[in-house]
Amino acid sequence: MFSYRHAFHAGNHADVLKHMVVIAALKHLTEKEAALAVLDTHAGAGLYRLDGDYAETSGEAANGVLRLLDAPKDAPALAPALQDYLDMVASFNAPGGRKVYPGSPFIMQRLLRDHDRLKLFELHPTDAKTLSANVAQLEAGRQVAVFREDGFEGVRKFLPPPSRRAFLLCDPSYEIKSDYARVAEMVNENLKRFATGTYAVWYPIIPRPEAHDLPRKLKTLANRAGKSWLHATLTVKSSKILTDEAGDTKRPGLPASGMFLINPPYTMKPVLQAALTQLVERLAQDKHATSTLESGG
Ligand code: SAM
Repeated sequence: MFSYRHAFHAGNHADVLKHMVVIAALKHLTEKEAALAVLDTHAGAGLYRLDGDYAETSGEAANGVLRLLDAPKDAPALAPALQDYLDMVASFNAPGGRKVYPGSPFIMQRLLRDHDRLKLFELHPTDAKTLSANVAQLEAGRQVAVFREDGFEGVRKFLPPPSRRAFLLCDPSYEIKSDYARVAEMVNENLKRFATGTYAVWYPIIPRPEAHDLPRKLKTLANRAGKSWLHATLTVKSSKILTDEAGDTKRPGLPASGMFLINPPYTMKPVLQAALTQLVERLAQDKHATSTLESGG
């Protein structure tokens, strides 16, 4: 169950999409004075090294955040949402540096005000320990709490929050097939418990029926509840399994992913449209690179 370690994937194209969307949402949600409760069902370790063994073994960041940071100086100006994302990553590094990659807990904490609250769930014993140690360095006091618990279950006790304002990020590793169904169940249950929260789900776009069904299920849930939704996808390459001259097959690695939001801030669609177009240009690995952005409700 616990073979997935996010350190191998930190800063890849999926993190770029997910974290850019999270920043755009939270920037808007923190404009209102009322306190915001932020829940991260699958938090990971919180901070990652881009020059460490994990990242260098996988090389995934090279085709993600590092590619964006390496853009030539005379490249056209970035869309604001993409610039906000790169500024966020830069704020964890020395000027011009690129050693540290912030995970969702640290990105979200940076955007919170003193009266907002962040609840982090992480089940992996090592990652939960690292996350707790990283969070302790923040000296954020009561603002941030780490739970070594199942995030699908754990969020229940915090919804609805006293302030009646919440942003929930659900970002499982989908190592186990049942994660897909558990995401839909968690959203369904909590949408009934707290209908006005903003729910954001990341999912991989891979040739697997459960992965195709998840955004459809989320759309149905949102429509049935009469809630608005926003669905962004980013594809960087073909999902075809490649065969070399020797006849050996090579899996392409993750080709695409999506973010599905229920009750998204109304400002997000145009903001993301411009950024997604640029992400396709800058992160394309072959001619199949593309993006989609759909909304409803
Ligand atoms: N959200 C993080 C980010 O953006 O930086 C990355 C999270 S990673 C994709 C998924 C994490 O969920 C892994 O660290 C894994 O150990 C953890 N995990 C797996 N099952 C879990 C569960 N049921 N509840 C909480 N955490 C879980």
